[in-house]
Amino acid sequence: MTINPKSSPAEYAGTVIKQEQIDKYLDNGRDFIDDKAICSLLETRGGPDRFEVRDIIDKSLNMNTLSADEVAALLKVDDPGLLAEMREAGLKVKKFVYDNRIVTFAPFYLSNLCVNNCLYCGFRKENKYEVRRKLSMEEVRRETQVLAGKIGHKRLIAVYGEHPGSSTDYIAETLETIYGIEVPVRRGVGAVRRINVNAAPLPVEDLKVLHDVGIGTFQVFQETYHHGLYAKIHPGNTVKSSYRWRLYCMHRAMEAGIDDVGIGALFGLGDWRFEVMGLAAHARELEAKFNIGPHTISFPRIEPACNAPLAGGSRRGVSDADFIKLVTVLRLAVPYTGMIVTARESREIRDRCLLSGCTQADAGSRIGIGAYDEAAAEQEARKQQFILGDTRSLEEFIADLAKKGVITSFCTAAYRCGRTGGCIMDMLKTGKEGQFCKVNAVLTFREWLDDFASPATLEICRPVLNSEIDNIRAEFKPSFFREFMNYYRRIENGERDLYF
Ligand code: SAM
Ligand code: SF4
Repeated sequence: MTINPKSSPAEYAGTVIKQEQIDKYLDNGRDFIDDKAICSLLETRGGPDRFEVRDIIDKSLNMNTLSADEVAALLKVDDPGLLAEMREAGLKVKKFVYDNRIVTFAPFYLSNLCVNNCLYCGFRKENKYEVRRKLSMEEVRRETQVLAGKIGHKRLIAVYGEHPGSSTDYIAETLETIYGIEVPVRRGVGAVRRINVNAAPLPVEDLKVLHDVGIGTFQVFQETYHHGLYAKIHPGNTVKSSYRWRLYCMHRAMEAGIDDVGIGALFGLGDWRFEVMGLAAHARELEAKFNIGPHTISFPRIEPACNAPLAGGSRRGVSDADFIKLVTVLRLAVPYTGMIVTARESREIRDRCLLSGCTQADAGSRIGIGAYDEAAAEQEARKQQFILGDTRSLEEFIADLAKKGVITSFCTAAYRCGRTGGCIMDMLKTGKEGQFCKVNAVLTFREWLDDFASPATLEICRPVLNSEIDNIRAEFKPSFFREFMNYYRRIENGERDLYF
């Protein structure tokens, strides 16, 4: 798509938004979020007794997506004992689907050019203090060399503002550049193996381009599912002002062949219960239309951001206790999905989320443009979208998890073996993917330890590694265990990228 860089936001919106790519999914002119019905359910739904809560939990443990009424019921639970049962069940669900591991990744901010004016974001067009920048391919190479060669990341989420200067062609070129980098490291080769993308909603034609360059998950957050609030916080006639262009972007992604899609809401803008209901409704809609639900759900809480009227520092009604509750309810509401808790949250809250059923977390993150290659002293608010809550390095994060008996996984096997979309959903629901997760977590963890860990970290991580290997020996057939150990030994001897 070629767009005149001098066009006004409204002209730009007119060029980007393809109304027919929205209308085809509407039901008698209505979209699938019914604000009134959600508000009324949240108001009138009676609190469930413990028998009903346990019935709902059972449904979730059997890998069934919960109905709107069931999600509303769980949101009404206040009894500490029942909430603890829900958290325990959430962790059980997580372990069945994803085993005892946390997948880690790094955010990679490529451009903060933006035509939109979201009132909560430091990248918004009207923030004149933001230092605007988009990385050249040489800078992309340098950043990737640090990420893959010094820190040891294998998975990234590439983040872009919405602007003609960071069009689909730019996104595609950056992805190809990142995938093309290989850095010699201590024993093997450092390389990024999966790039997820967080960018503006795109038309089907553009999404096909990203599919063809090997995008991982396509991630777009609805921010708020409430139509009225959405309009207020996305003023003007920008692309982002179109609620439905955004709401149906995952439908378009599926049409384009991208079947790993990540949905999310920005918590703290409105009533957090409404957003949980919206996210669950989105999951059910994707399942109903495509037989594939969201690969991941994200639930960022709004963070202070420079010159953003709605991000002045308050959490606007989502207390830590509410946050843990919403994570728990989402875990049960969409049992098969991956759940991402980012370094926006403090270390303490992240630990609690990771032990309540979250499956993915970023670590060692920097969210300035070109920030990995810059001296830490140059990190400043004017160059960042918002301020991070957990600034531990990847190595510290891994060691802290290991102390809690949790293994960090760098696995990217599923998508490279074609286990995506509906196929992976079935495997997740039946616990089969969890088995792959287990062995691939050990193999990729061994790689990372050999290539990047200090002797002290290695010592901290050894017990969890050995206990996972013992579990594999106990849980799998001897013939498979031998095959696994053959891969493990080859990795110890310096071979890389072996997976099941
Ligand atoms: N421009 C694209 C878009 O808006 O979808 C992608 C990049 S945008 C930087 C990625 C996400 O950052 C947004 O979807 C929003 O949820 C989140 N975000 C924006 N401002 C934030 C803030 N102040 N605190 C936390 N998250 C924020
Ligand atoms: Fe731009 Fe996205 Fe920030 Fe909105 S959230 S101002 S679209 S970068």
